[in-house]
Formats: sequence, structure tokens, C-alpha cells
Amino acid sequence: MRKPIIAGNWKMHKVLSEAKGFIEEVKGLVPSQEKVDAVVCAPALFLESLVQQTQGTDVKIGAQNMHFEDQGAFTGEVSPVALKDLGVSYSIIGHSERRELFAETDESVNKKTLSAFQHGLVPIVCCGETLEQREGGQTNEFVGSQVQKALTGLTEEQVKQTVIAYEPIWAIGTGKTASAQDANEVCAHIRQTVAAQFSENAANAVRIQYGGSVKPSNIKEFLSQPDIDGALVGGASLEASSYLQLLEAVAND
Ligand code: PEP
Repeated sequence: MRKPIIAGNWKMHKVLSEAKGFIEEVKGLVPSQEKVDAVVCAPALFLESLVQQTQGTDVKIGAQNMHFEDQGAFTGEVSPVALKDLGVSYSIIGHSERRELFAETDESVNKKTLSAFQHGLVPIVCCGETLEQREGGQTNEFVGSQVQKALTGLTEEQVKQTVIAYEPIWAIGTGKTASAQDANEVCAHIRQTVAAQFSENAANAVRIQYGGSVKPSNIKEFLSQPDIDGALVGGASLEASSYLQLLEAVAND
């Protein structure tokens, strides 16, 4: 039985006081982590404060990106060693905005995924097709290849702990969502890809989120699908009340 995981991706939103205010509002109200993993992926500047603020609560803090190297001459980058040292638990890796706007490649995504495990961080590895790829019938082939490349070199145990976020690019921040059935079909294909690359056991354990305009009104539909284990949520994770509603919908299912 896979535990659902809801991760908020704040992107480049909020200032520190707003971030702290959000955590203050949600930290006593999130459902128990026995039922659902609640994650907030915040801008790097806020991570130290938010980790401290969430100590002893059921909210875990994630980064939105990390470098694959431990340290070095990489101006402006964030070290996985520094993230771990702060007490950060997760890092999003290869979000489509990083791939499209900051030239991330399948190769860098793979290096970052390996590096995350080396430093005790759980990677949330993103994949997803463009509208052109979907309309051209290339979704499964493209997404399968992204996943296969991202996971290359991991052990079976590491794959079991990985979170994969399937996010069709055309559904992110657009208000458009894939239908729950279409999203599940791709998530099932991702699971088959993991089974072929690693094992049935790894495929049964890996958690696969759907992402793309998820909100309290549609989350149950996605979570009712057999291969969808949670959601990576942008816009609807910015307000405390809506983030809590997402978690409650999942926990009370
Ligand atoms: C995201 O940021 O990964 C995302 C899915 O955004 P939104 O929920 O706003 O579409």
C-alpha cells in the first residue's frame, strides 16, 4: 500500500514573512503523516526558517532544485550537502520550468537524482510531455524515456523511495487538467517502465504524483486512480486553506 504524498511547489512566490505565516497556519492542522505525506517545496531562501518552524510537526520541507555537485565554483547554485545540513527532506528535480527555462537535460536530472540519494534527500523527479507531443501520440514514449534516463544508476531500494511527478506541461498553471483517466494511463506506463528497468517490486513501491492545475475540487478524482499516489501542486498550494483542503481530501478518502 503506497502512502499518498501531496507536495506544494511555491515556485518563486512569497517573501519570508508570508512563508512563515503559511506554516504557522497549517502546521497544527495537517493530517497525520500516517495517512499522507505533506511537503512544502519553498524557495531556497526560506528553507532554514521553515525547517526549524516545522520541527516536530507533520509538515516536511523540500527544495525546488539542487545542484548535483557537493560544492565548487557554481555561482548561484544550491548544494545538496547544504540542503541536507539544514534538515531539508525532499528536492524537486527536473521540473518542466527548469528544463524549459534553465536548460536542464535528462543527463543533469539523472545526476541530480543520484546526488539526492547520496545526500539523504528524497527526489521528486518530474517528467511530462508538451501539447505537441501529446497530440502527436508520443506521450508514453517520451515520458517513459525521461523516467528511464532519470533513474539510471539507482539501486532498486532507491527507486522504491523515489517520488515521480507526472506533469503534462500543457496542464501546468493553465487551469487545464489531463482527465484523471488519461493521467492514470501515463502513470501506469511510468510504472511499467520502472518494472522493466528495475523490478515489479520497485514499480509497486515507487510513488507517482500527478501535477497540473490540481485543486481541492479535482484532487479526489485523480487520487481515485490506481496508479496516482498524490499530487505536485503549484497555484493551489499557495494559500494555507487550499493546501489544507488538498491534504484533508486525501487523508479522508
Ligand atoms: C507545478 O508547479 O508543478 C504545478 C503543477 O503547478 P500548477 O498546480 O499551478 O499547475
